[in-house]
Amino acid sequence: MSRLLWISGLLAGTAACGAPPCPEGSDGRDGTLDGGPLAMVRLPPDLGAACAARCNGPDDCPPGTICTRARYRDEEGHTSRFELVCLPPAARGRAAAGACTVAGELEECASRSCHEGQCVVACARDADCLVGQRCVEVSEDGFTTRLCWYADDALERPIELGTHELRGGEATAPLVFAVPPETEGLGLVAEDLAGHRFPLTFVELRDAEDVLLFDLETILAWQDTPIRWLPLQTHGAAAMLAPGSTEDRVRFRHGRWTLRAGVLPGSTADSVRVRLRALPTAAGPGSLHLNVHLAPGLGVNAASASTDTRLQGVLGTVEAIFQAIGLRVVARRYLDDVEPHLSVVDSVQGPESEAAALLRGAVGEGLDVFLVRSIDAATPTLGLAGGVPGPFGEPGTSHSGVIVSYDRAVVGDGTLLAAQVLAHEIGHYLGLFHNQEGSPACAAGERPPGCAPFGGQDPIADTSTSDRNLMFWALRTFEDGSVNDELTEGQGFVLLRNPLVSR
Ligand SMILES: [Zn+2]
Repeated sequence: MSRLLWISGLLAGTAACGAPPCPEGSDGRDGTLDGGPLAMVRLPPDLGAACAARCNGPDDCPPGTICTRARYRDEEGHTSRFELVCLPPAARGRAAAGACTVAGELEECASRSCHEGQCVVACARDADCLVGQRCVEVSEDGFTTRLCWYADDALERPIELGTHELRGGEATAPLVFAVPPETEGLGLVAEDLAGHRFPLTFVELRDAEDVLLFDLETILAWQDTPIRWLPLQTHGAAAMLAPGSTEDRVRFRHGRWTLRAGVLPGSTADSVRVRLRALPTAAGPGSLHLNVHLAPGLGVNAASASTDTRLQGVLGTVEAIFQAIGLRVVARRYLDDVEPHLSVVDSVQGPESEAAALLRGAVGEGLDVFLVRSIDAATPTLGLAGGVPGPFGEPGTSHSGVIVSYDRAVVGDGTLLAAQVLAHEIGHYLGLFHNQEGSPACAAGERPPGCAPFGGQDPIADTSTSDRNLMFWALRTFEDGSVNDELTEGQGFVLLRNPLVSR
């Protein structure tokens, strides 16, 4: 039988192959392909009961066919066994890692096979699979086959999306990657490997159902996208969270995602090497580890930090604020590595600012917190965060951490104000916007600066405009001596999906 005849017979969905015969349940080498021996097997009735070649990976299959897993059912409809076979793809089926159900797998998946909600293909090696997947043994109903799927520790590993040489104004091609089923959130990070010469940006993000979650052109026109993210001050690094809000706005789906990232125009450098990664994360209660950098002149240093009443009071208050939503905030180490001239931060805008220089001292593996005497910027500033969200533990970027004024002359002798400022900046860094901005909301046709876009509120439904909320634009003190320190369930939903949270 020639290859051409064999394929056309299968494509036509004939009830059986031509000669040689393919006996019921055959697993013998009873056919030939291009003169070589070929193991044939009869397909299950819902795949046409034709004969197909067995395979162990895509290299085994004739052109126009893919190596996939055929499901055989018993009389009750339960899976009785699997075979890896070469099949022509379903014409309108989704590609590998696309969303599917077992009931609809024959039409929903190009590969006609669905496993745990994702279309699957057979493989012989990791290189046969999508970025984010591995070629692993997958067991289902007692049968084990090698499929493009996920390593057991997939949720602990970044998905590497490559290093891309880009000029100002350029973007990557769409980068396809696969997200494991247990994933409940993703952190996306772009990093300039040569430093901080270009402002980086995300351009487009699509989920497994091809929903456009983020689109740069739309957000630059000040129209909101499901994931709200703004390319502001992104020299050196940019980070984005999916979902970044609650389920009423973005439903998080695992499976096949597509990302484009790029470089905004406006740098004198020729090109930049941008490293892109996606960090899958689970949800539920977890811990955030802090690296606390203590600037000179605060009256506390690394040696005295763990017994310093004021510092421990501040950290204890921060811990209590986040405990309310299931996040445990723990100071893991204290460092005396802030240069004396950065003890008062005199500039905060751009990659050459003192704030950026300070943040580049981050050590990573947690959130870096820089306590300084004061931030004497053009506008009075109690604290700032390296991004909304900031990078997820990447040290050394101009955005790697938060800076908080700690001098008694600025935040008082007590612990409450410093704690509120620190907690507020941690909230920003982990992905929270102000629940209510200070500037008035932009009217129709009006644009920032001078007014706040998107109604002047965050994308989370349950935060309201309350000035009791931790993320209210200003520090509030109330008559009973308390400050604005409340977090809603929706804000907790976002915070606990940040890759910096460990479990
Ligand atoms: Zn703020």
